[in-house]
Amino acid sequence: MPQYKIAIIGAGPAGYFTAQALQNSQDEQRTFAIDMFERLPTMWGLVRSGVAPDHPKIKTVAKVFEKVASEPNFRLFGNVEIGTDIDIEELCARYDAVVMCTGSSVGKKLGIPGEDLPGSLSAAEFVPWYNGHPDYAQLDVPLDGTTAVVIGAGNVAMDCARILAIDPTELDPTDTAPQALAELHKSKIRKVYIAGRRGPEHAAFTAPELRDLPKLEHTDVLITKEEVEAAHARAEAAGEIEKHLASNLEAWRLIAEHPRSGHERQMEFHFLAAPKEFKGNGKVEEVVFGINTIKDGKVIDTGETYSIKADLVISAIGYQAAPINGIHFHHGVIENEAGRVLGTNIYTVGWAKRGPSGVIGTNKSDASDVVKLLIEDLRDEARPDFDITPFIPAGVQIVDQAAWSRINAAEVAAGEALGKPRLKEVSIEKLLHLGQ
Ligand code: NAP
Repeated sequence: MPQYKIAIIGAGPAGYFTAQALQNSQDEQRTFAIDMFERLPTMWGLVRSGVAPDHPKIKTVAKVFEKVASEPNFRLFGNVEIGTDIDIEELCARYDAVVMCTGSSVGKKLGIPGEDLPGSLSAAEFVPWYNGHPDYAQLDVPLDGTTAVVIGAGNVAMDCARILAIDPTELDPTDTAPQALAELHKSKIRKVYIAGRRGPEHAAFTAPELRDLPKLEHTDVLITKEEVEAAHARAEAAGEIEKHLASNLEAWRLIAEHPRSGHERQMEFHFLAAPKEFKGNGKVEEVVFGINTIKDGKVIDTGETYSIKADLVISAIGYQAAPINGIHFHHGVIENEAGRVLGTNIYTVGWAKRGPSGVIGTNKSDASDVVKLLIEDLRDEARPDFDITPFIPAGVQIVDQAAWSRINAAEVAAGEALGKPRLKEVSIEKLLHLGQ
């Protein structure tokens, strides 16, 4: 019976769900030997560096990942960068299949004047900063002004706005990166605007996230009843209201009707507000919005504008994949057909394949669909057995599953003493030390 060797690149949700789908597809016809490669010494991708720290339940999926990793046919090669430490071509020549699960880590640009002023950040920087991603530990997040604007009406924008708007004591019992938490404690930001270019009825926020807002203990969340009613009327006029939209509209109503507590901290929604320009002298000071309107279901620019004074702007308008040597990208994703990179033994799953959409669980069905295609394409005979270890440059300290377990255990133990789920280490050097 052939044992096929599969390389999975990226230890995030797409990577682990791909490994799980492979493990579940083993039968009397075939088995798999899985090698997972990860650039960082830490695992779990967005579950570690994307999911908001005040949403710990979502992170419990990491238990599934660790179960997958505990299977005898799984090997981990953390702190190994594909395309740099080992070429893709090398992997393709030796493994039966290579599955790219490398996500989308680059923030999309608005393409408007002033976007590159200091004080204008992408969610692709801000989110990994507060989540302790080593690449963003040194990010300068100016929190000495009173007002922040978050651009975008998706769940990432919501996460960014919430982290800025809540009282930092609410983050004390979480795994927020220690250096970010210290900065957030000093933050003078009290007003956070979230700006969507269309109406509340078009927002990409999901209902559970909206329903959490009235529960915030130290922050008033503002949207007017009139705005919610207008959105409702427009949605009705546009036809039958689907279940998820009905749920969102109901959540908006609850937010609008929730009594204000007079908190100093506020999160305020602005809709039909399209960012036109960031202005400022050497740093962001003002965001200019074009005012949109909706006519016959279409979003139209009225030509009018208004401005908000702002000390910090975060654009949360989507992501695209970061380049990797030896891989072709098209429109921000790996060029693929249903997960197959045509003409190669490369496959792709997750945000690298389909773009930044869906929740973590979406990657499970995505992985199982692609693994079906991968199995269809396998030759009758597996490639010769081999060990990748000698191909990894001698200077690279590999973080295998045992080393990652030591890092994980050390962080959890350090957090326990402080009443946190873990205390994240953000220095690569120190992480590697913890793994020894
Ligand atoms: P998203 O859901 O696609 O939202 C992107 C937002 O950016 C949309 O409101 C979009 O508006 C807006 N936008 C795009 N280009 C713009 C421009 N030029 N000017 C102004 N606004 C612009 O993306 P995301 O928030 O990055 O989230 C990515 C995925 O992760 C989503 O599937 C999300 O649900 C998921 N996620 C889930 C959770 C959770 O479950 N708690 C948390 C975080 C992320 P238009 O609609 O008008 O294009």
